[in-house]
Amino acid sequence: MTRHHPDQAMLLDYASGAASEAESLLVATHLTYCPRCRSEVDELECLGGTLLDSIEPSLPAPSSCDEVLDRLGREPRPTSRPVPPQVLPQFQGLPRPIQRLLAASDRVPAWRRVMAGLDVLDLPARPPEGAGSMVRLMRLQPGVAVPQHTHRGEEFTLVLAGGFSDDTGHYQVGDIASCDGSISHRPAADLGEPCVSLVVTTGPVRLASPIGRLASLFVRV
Ligand SMILES: [Zn+2]
Repeated sequence: MTRHHPDQAMLLDYASGAASEAESLLVATHLTYCPRCRSEVDELECLGGTLLDSIEPSLPAPSSCDEVLDRLGREPRPTSRPVPPQVLPQFQGLPRPIQRLLAASDRVPAWRRVMAGLDVLDLPARPPEGAGSMVRLMRLQPGVAVPQHTHRGEEFTLVLAGGFSDDTGHYQVGDIASCDGSISHRPAADLGEPCVSLVVTTGPVRLASPIGRLASLFVRV
């Protein structure tokens, strides 16, 4: 059971189709783990359909959930079983929304080493508005910690495997950690297995210590 969820505004943006591509990926991936947020999104979508009816009285009542989604500008649910995407062996085991994104891309992204014990993989999704924003997977080896840092924008980290702790708490598979410029943290992977996360940021990382800032001149975090 996940303990850390997207906030109401993020779920509402997702349900109404107003979320950015990166935010949609984050929420859709969280929903694969979280029945509580899935039912909340279902309720918001149906509420949206009811509101739509009240402002468009000429339209007949939606006969199905697909029609509600259609009126909200969202993709209708497929009527037949979807064809599973072609997933490369190294990406098997990732949640379906990320697999679909990778399968639809022309290029195959690869992991790259940032520092000892930390690898990142840039995903082929449009990042949010703002300089330094990004959408990527991050893999921390067991027990490894990212240098203390803060952010110029917001950062959302959704755990896909393993777990990590930072100054704000402990996060396990399905949990979303969110932080902004008011928080300085040092995420450290749990012992046991590597911690793999989906990370969406809306601004650049700022390493906190002078040594960290010096290192950032040489290492692209
Ligand atoms: Zn949730």
